[in-house]
Amino acid sequence: TSKKIAFIGLGNMGAPMVDNLLSHQLDVVVFDLVPEAVQRACDKGATAATDARQAVRQADIVISMLPAAAHVKSLYLSDTGIIAQARPDTLFIDSSTIDASTAKLVGEAVEQAGHQFVDAPVSGGTAGAAAGTLTFIMGGHDTAIERARPILACMGKNLFHAGPMGAGQIAKICNNMLLAVLMAGTSEALQLAIANGLDPKVVSDIMLQSSGCNWTLQKYNPCPEVMANVPSSNDYAGGFMVKLMNKDLSLAMDAAGATGSATPMASAAQGLYRLHQLQGNQDKDFSSIFTLFGKL
Ligand code: NAD
Repeated sequence: TSKKIAFIGLGNMGAPMVDNLLSHQLDVVVFDLVPEAVQRACDKGATAATDARQAVRQADIVISMLPAAAHVKSLYLSDTGIIAQARPDTLFIDSSTIDASTAKLVGEAVEQAGHQFVDAPVSGGTAGAAAGTLTFIMGGHDTAIERARPILACMGKNLFHAGPMGAGQIAKICNNMLLAVLMAGTSEALQLAIANGLDPKVVSDIMLQSSGCNWTLQKYNPCPEVMANVPSSNDYAGGFMVKLMNKDLSLAMDAAGATGSATPMASAAQGLYRLHQLQGNQDKDFSSIFTLFGKL
């Protein structure tokens, strides 16, 4: 396709996602508040914009990948927001993980201005982003979804249509609530094994072939030196920050509050990740919750 894509937000996820768009020979104009992040993307073939508005003015499709709802709101809905800058019939795709009501608010503003919107949060981590194997969990109208698919397929391997606008966010929040519980549970199980004199690598191999097997053991072992190329073997740098997991747990607990759902496991996980964050670990990868359960 000859479409031009504006990509806003070049952090742990956005940067490798742009790499994959570029490796599909797509024309990508980028912006991030951090100039070094823009420079790194340009070194790989992207074009720099001086701000988000300038990026959007050049594009047919806009993708945003920002930390949280406040950033998304200000990018789209502030006085200097990007919607008014768009060419006719632009497709906006927000891949940040945010609450469903903000996604709907932004999506409706986009549609009111005559454009299309898809909420498309992702799963798969920074490794999935680098490998182009992300799962995109989309919410929106069929026509917008069908337009988004070929672009998202350059960055991901599984593309799901969860339902109307905002539904992608609900599904994503449920997934991350479960991930928080699995990472904490896997960490305490591994620490129990270590405390009893077992080798965490051996125990991990056993659990991988047993009923405790789960994604954190398969792709993201929280114990240092069990797996190569995961944050735990890199001082818990990169990856998915503790503060972002706490954001997602708050989103899950808010959603549960709205429906009166019982989420006792998520409550426990939220307590643990909050405690871990208060101890100064907000910017570390979330698998560092492992260190809360024992000595390294
Ligand atoms: P990050 O903090 O590493 O990156 C966010 C980037 O957005 C930063 O570079 C920041 O400078 C930029 N930014 C913030 N406000 C901006 C603005 N107004 N204009 C332009 N740039 C702006 O976060 P991340 O890990 O890349 O995560 C992004 C989103 O994806 C979050 O919502 C997160 O929950 C979600 N997510 C992350 C992972 C992961 O493994 N890291 C996995 C799935 C989903």
